[in-house]
Amino acid sequence: MKILVINCGSSSVKYKLFDVADGDGAAVPHTPAAGVLERVGGDAVLHHTAGEATDDRRVDAPDHRAAIGAVLDALVHGDGAVLDRLDTIDGVGHRVVHGGEDVTDASVADDALREIIRRNASLAPLHNPPNLDGIDAAREALPEACHVAVFDTAFLTTLPPKAYRYAVPERWYREHHVRKYGFHGTSHRYVTLRTAELLSKPVAETNLITCHLGNGCSMTAVAGGKAVDHSMGMTPLDGLVMGTRSGTLDPAVVLYMLSRGLDREAVGRALNAESGLLALSGRSNDMRDLLAARDDGDERAALAVEAFIYRVVKYVGAYHLALRSVDAVVLTGGIGENSIPARRGIVDGLAPLGAVLDADRNASLAGSAGAITTAASSLSVWVVPTDEEFMIARDTARFVSGRQRENR
Ligand code: ADP
Repeated sequence: MKILVINCGSSSVKYKLFDVADGDGAAVPHTPAAGVLERVGGDAVLHHTAGEATDDRRVDAPDHRAAIGAVLDALVHGDGAVLDRLDTIDGVGHRVVHGGEDVTDASVADDALREIIRRNASLAPLHNPPNLDGIDAAREALPEACHVAVFDTAFLTTLPPKAYRYAVPERWYREHHVRKYGFHGTSHRYVTLRTAELLSKPVAETNLITCHLGNGCSMTAVAGGKAVDHSMGMTPLDGLVMGTRSGTLDPAVVLYMLSRGLDREAVGRALNAESGLLALSGRSNDMRDLLAARDDGDERAALAVEAFIYRVVKYVGAYHLALRSVDAVVLTGGIGENSIPARRGIVDGLAPLGAVLDADRNASLAGSAGAITTAASSLSVWVVPTDEEFMIARDTARFVSGRQRENR
């Protein structure tokens, strides 16, 4: 079964073609081709790879429809072609950021779902509109394929009201939909399923604290395989210290800075793009740079790393209490999967909960899954590489299989 996964951003289209051997996704998929088309609407270029073959081309992509057309063309023509015909694609999985309170699972991207994505666009104005453009363009180009939308927010719709409601006037929630939604849900769901598998436990009996630590960072408390709390909020700005986002702060800081003469745009830009590790270090939003600078004696870089780790540890403490018992803390994302010193700092910070670092295992894990605490450790910390595209492909394959069964 061939499943194309599409992630349509405002100026880019990322894609990956999966050959899912088993409709339920039990088999590990072979990934024949992937790529990214950058600068949609401008000087667009497509970077396409298929095995050893690479195909970098300038393309004419004034809009998402043309961009999707160029991606599909690269799959059937040129050095990285992997398909004879486009109608061999059985399903297309679309990443969609915000399903609001309406969408609790992956769903067929039909007209009714289009309307829900459109309705929730005010909650994700930078993401839902291009996601929708991608769905429209792909449905037009591949009318026979089964199109499925997989939402970043879906895994987090199981949060109880005590976790998702803010203590603000009721009408803010009723009329303006102000509440915690959470993001990175597809990643948290993938590592939840994968970690339960690695622990040989039924997912419905698995309690985890999953930490997606990349440029954007979020954490989820997972009880019996379901999300019960999460660090991002109504927007992705809340929670952990991130590459360029502040994470949690006193909301009155915003009012104060407005009163100091900054306008709404400037405050929004500062908190989203000029804060986090970048602001604290004054140097970079990249953990690798900061660790190197810290080791060279840079005090601001040291503070940025320390604040980052402290915030992660604080959330683990809170979620540990919320869950009562925890099978594992799971680290994923660019930092979680790769940064040996950041992982060491997190495990050291969790020592009061009984975490004991296995330094050799921590040093040897890069790009693969495993525990980085000792067998005697009473709190286990695992590294589990995430794979959001695979999760989307697997969700999509579920619907394709269902449709194939109906047609039989
Ligand atoms: P995004 O959220 O944009 O998908 P990633 O998940 O790729 O980002 O994570 C980016 C972060 O991962 C950066 O802070 C980068 O420094 C960090 N990172 C990636 N590789 C390494 C590495 N080998 N060592 C330390 N940090 C790393």
